[in-house]
Amino acid sequence: MPELPEVEALAEFLRQRAVGRVVARVDIGSISVLKTYDPPPTALGGLTVTAVARHGKFLDLDVDGLHLVFHLARAGWLRWSDNLPTTPVKPGKSPLALRVLLDDPDVEGRPGFDLTEQGTQKRLAVYVVRDPQDVPGIATLGPDPMADDFDVEALRRIVGGSRQQIKGLLRDQSILAGVGNAYSDEVLHAARLSPFAIAGSLDDAAVERLWTAMREVLAGAVDAARGKPAKELKDAKRAGMRVHGRTGQICATCGDTVREVSFADSSLQYCATCQTGGKVLADRRMSRLLR
Ligand SMILES: [Zn+2]
Repeated sequence: MPELPEVEALAEFLRQRAVGRVVARVDIGSISVLKTYDPPPTALGGLTVTAVARHGKFLDLDVDGLHLVFHLARAGWLRWSDNLPTTPVKPGKSPLALRVLLDDPDVEGRPGFDLTEQGTQKRLAVYVVRDPQDVPGIATLGPDPMADDFDVEALRRIVGGSRQQIKGLLRDQSILAGVGNAYSDEVLHAARLSPFAIAGSLDDAAVERLWTAMREVLAGAVDAARGKPAKELKDAKRAGMRVHGRTGQICATCGDTVREVSFADSSLQYCATCQTGGKVLADRRMSRLLR
């Protein structure tokens, strides 16, 4: 799933290619991805893309005051083309969920992008709204950890008194916007904190480490993703990971083996030497199976 750094890079990618162009047509390939009906997607036709913004993991195309907002979720992706076919998209079982055709008087073909979704989970979500705050997931977003005013004190206010495990807190979009399963693993590894540590129990030094790690990990990933075409972002993300998705590999920091804790529909990775004083965390799925 794309998180803050990849969505930021996609926003920049779209800013360079879509802003200033007129929306020729929006085709829906999968009606279930569209979460709003008023205004209809056809209302975007003929209007100019004026800006592209990111809210947490949401992308927001400002189309002359209307907003085409989407969340790629776990299996969604954006595919840009300088020459999209103009034959109408037939709704059906293809991964193509939405196609945005743009007008460009200088080129023969139609530039634009497809939103696609692989797999069966169908969580890709598209909204056409008058105000991005009309999207429920945006209205409830917590602060953006890369915002200029998100200082260590802001993080201290968030974790202070919280009874949540820090891993869950970092992933909670209503607490912090944009961090998901992958970057929370990376941030906690860089901060040398156990994913199961209770947020409110972190001392001042730990909160400072966490803030520094979050800014460094996310800024590094934004830098690595910047300027890359959409299709290369997934590989760039994977290549930058130190523990996430690296179960059984060697921790580059200390040489220990990266371990995993599995849950029903996700898993986390961590390094025991770096993060838990060598303690191996119980894998709840495994212990449930063994019980
Ligand atoms: Zn390590």
